[in-house]
Amino acid sequence: MMHVMKQSDVIIVGAGAAGLMCAREAALRGKHVTVLEHSARMGEKIRISGGGRCNFTNLYARPETFLSQNPHFCKSALSRYTAQDFLDLVKAHHIGWHEKPYEDNAHQSAKGQLFCDDKAFLIIDMLRNDAQQAGVKFHLETDISNIEKDGDFFIVTTNKGDFKSAALVIASGGLSIPKIGASPFGYKVAAQFELSIIPPRAGLVPLTFADSLLAQTKELSGIGLQAEVKSEKGGTFTEGLLFTHRGLSGPSILQISSYWREGEEITVNLLPGQDMFEALRLVRREKPKQKLHNILCAYLPKKLAVFVAETSGHDVTIADLSDKKLRAIANSINDWHIKPQGSEGYRTAEVTLGGVDTGELSSKTMEVKKVPGLYFIGEIVDVTGHLGGHNFQWAWSSAVAAGQAV
Ligand SMILES: Cc1cc2nc3c(=O)[nH]c(=O)nc-3n(C[C@H](O)[C@H](O)[C@H](O)COP(=O)(O)OP(=O)(O)OC[C@H]3O[C@@H](n4cnc5c(N)ncnc54)[C@H](O)[C@@H]3O)c2cc1C
Repeated sequence: MMHVMKQSDVIIVGAGAAGLMCAREAALRGKHVTVLEHSARMGEKIRISGGGRCNFTNLYARPETFLSQNPHFCKSALSRYTAQDFLDLVKAHHIGWHEKPYEDNAHQSAKGQLFCDDKAFLIIDMLRNDAQQAGVKFHLETDISNIEKDGDFFIVTTNKGDFKSAALVIASGGLSIPKIGASPFGYKVAAQFELSIIPPRAGLVPLTFADSLLAQTKELSGIGLQAEVKSEKGGTFTEGLLFTHRGLSGPSILQISSYWREGEEITVNLLPGQDMFEALRLVRREKPKQKLHNILCAYLPKKLAVFVAETSGHDVTIADLSDKKLRAIANSINDWHIKPQGSEGYRTAEVTLGGVDTGELSSKTMEVKKVPGLYFIGEIVDVTGHLGGHNFQWAWSSAVAAGQAV
């Protein structure tokens, strides 16, 4: 039987956020596009994102809301396809959307998050329908066994036959949540073409405590509050914090997890905007007979107040506490230093930090400088957004940059 090679202008590997957007963009420009996806369904991460309502962009997405070895790399793509551009697309498709309400005192990072009013699959349908109408051919459950560069063409060998194209876009995402299709495919392709890779690690992920610390904090599991969290090497976020039975979670912790490295401390202020030392001194003057844990109950959830008082070793009448002791107690609230043991890893991480070194790519087109025709877009690239819609915005922006160049 004669072996038929399917040829198109562009092959895109991965029908996730970036792959769908790139396919749409290239096809609308008249390119013949083939998308190869190993899962049975496309856009699985979009479907489960934002609690099922897809936080599809952030109005305040800007270079400072992304982590990368080269913080300038994302500028070009983000400025040419903005959050407003994606919002215009959503509006043009009559998809209901809203901005998440935020606490008045919340950090900038909690603002500008746009969600679907209804289900996230509307975003998948929008991208897939546009792409299909523009002629994109999707091949699901397609396993790629080999990629070869043959002169000006790429030959992709799969269980559904061989595919050939002059442009190959890798949009296979990071390592987070293998259960729904994440694979190391993109890193392997990068290695095959001898591209430098910034070591991947889990980001936007809950942090875990060592058993000794957990033994103390386990009973706090379920308590949530607004906290300011900092890491040693940059990053400050004031958002929700949640005690879990393994350590800490909540938006502020997910945010800081992308900055935190093993062995480092994080600093937590459980009462941002409240100087606890001055507050305790005032109580000592005005109500000297009160016991510490009763005083703290006015500021913190009860279990946490008791925990702070007991672990301070000074749960006595406040009149008996010196300034030095009050300072130590206040610091355990305003300036709590914690050394997490690790993170919950790729099983629950929302993103993968690191990836293809941006030095290998054109920031204008996402094309590999030393391999003409090969492109990397989305999460596989060493550009990782803060929590709150930034990662999808990077997927859209990098996808459009490549989609206009292929
Ligand atoms: C639970 C969760 C919630 C999230 N919520 C949000 C949110 O609300 N807002 C936000 O901005 N970001 C969110 N994110 C992050 C966001 O989903 C990703 O950053 C984004 O999907 C990355 O897009 P991508 O196209 O690069 O990768 P993906 O969307 O992961 O797509 C990669 C695609 O490639 C396919 N693939 C992988 N390996 C192969 C292979 N070998 N062959 C063929 N196909 C392959 C995968 O099956 C997948 O379809 C969330 C992530 C998770 C895990």
